[in-house]
Amino acid sequence: MKLLSELKKIVAIDSHEPSGVTELADYYSSAYQSLGFRVKKDRFNNIAATRGKPTILFNAHLDTVAPAHNMKSPFSLRKSGDWVYGLGAADNKAALVALHSVMEKTVPDNVAVVLSANEDNRILHKGQRRRSIYFHLQKNKYAVKRGINCEPSGAGRTTNIYDAIGGKLIFDVVLNGKSVHSSSQKPHDNSIVKAANVIKKLDKLSRGNYTHHGKRFRMGVNIGLINGGTSRNTVAGRTTMACERRLLPGEDVPSIKRKLLRASGKMNLIDEIPPFLYGKSDAFKQNVSDAYKKVFRRQPAFLFTPVSTDSSIFWSMNKTKLLMIGPGELSTAHTAGERLNINQFNDVAKFYSELVKQQ
Ligand SMILES: [Zn+2]
Repeated sequence: MKLLSELKKIVAIDSHEPSGVTELADYYSSAYQSLGFRVKKDRFNNIAATRGKPTILFNAHLDTVAPAHNMKSPFSLRKSGDWVYGLGAADNKAALVALHSVMEKTVPDNVAVVLSANEDNRILHKGQRRRSIYFHLQKNKYAVKRGINCEPSGAGRTTNIYDAIGGKLIFDVVLNGKSVHSSSQKPHDNSIVKAANVIKKLDKLSRGNYTHHGKRFRMGVNIGLINGGTSRNTVAGRTTMACERRLLPGEDVPSIKRKLLRASGKMNLIDEIPPFLYGKSDAFKQNVSDAYKKVFRRQPAFLFTPVSTDSSIFWSMNKTKLLMIGPGELSTAHTAGERLNINQFNDVAKFYSELVKQQ
């Protein structure tokens, strides 16, 4: 398989649209089937392709974000020097192509390839709006606890490894007052005023603090959306605030929850995604490090990101820890300048192949 011409073909399929996700799901179902993988496609178009008894799991996703408004011809791969540009060139279609080519070449007997239908977009199922892999992992469990989240981890021409991923507490704060005509208001009726007090308290809470390989991260509560009141001449009877608190590895989550509850009076916890971190002497991390050194001829940089990917869901629902390493530049993903370095693309494919051989 020629990586670049295959990528051109895959980028041309608009998988921001559900029809494109379906097309890719069908394409990869039959591709992995013809390589002798046992393939299961669920109702959401997530794909699980396994051969033998997997000792390593690879995860990538089929969808893309919507094209940025200033992106020129997002579905045709454009080459300039040793870079290619296009929607999904990095996030996440280069990974789909690299994985496919590696499996075609090596046909390993101990691998699970799980392709999420929707990672960059949420889907609605039974009243819950979530990433598609959440619904997949509710029904499907994997015995394999180690693997690779093939998301773009490049910076310029360098490939990094993310060995720590942040989590989050997603919650609403609801303030109730009394909805009366503004001419007959009494103190403590107004839920917006109550919300203002809670905002001050949430803002004063001590921030999380974490240092990863010399880089320091701080994390506080984000109040992302406030919804309150009905009109100018009515006292606001109810105010809702949509909040999140990103979690850093090693944080005492029960204690954070207690503090949030004390500050807000009442909070509805919507979801809790724990952070995770690979231990220094983890054997799988050592394998990955060895494969990396062999292919890239340097020591890998191990980084932390507070942004959650499907790896967070694999961790919280299946206790599978995925190191994040993949083709494409992370900082330009989700922008009009999304790009992939061609040499890095080839090297990451070699690295995946090396890892598969090592298992
Ligand atoms: Zn992605």
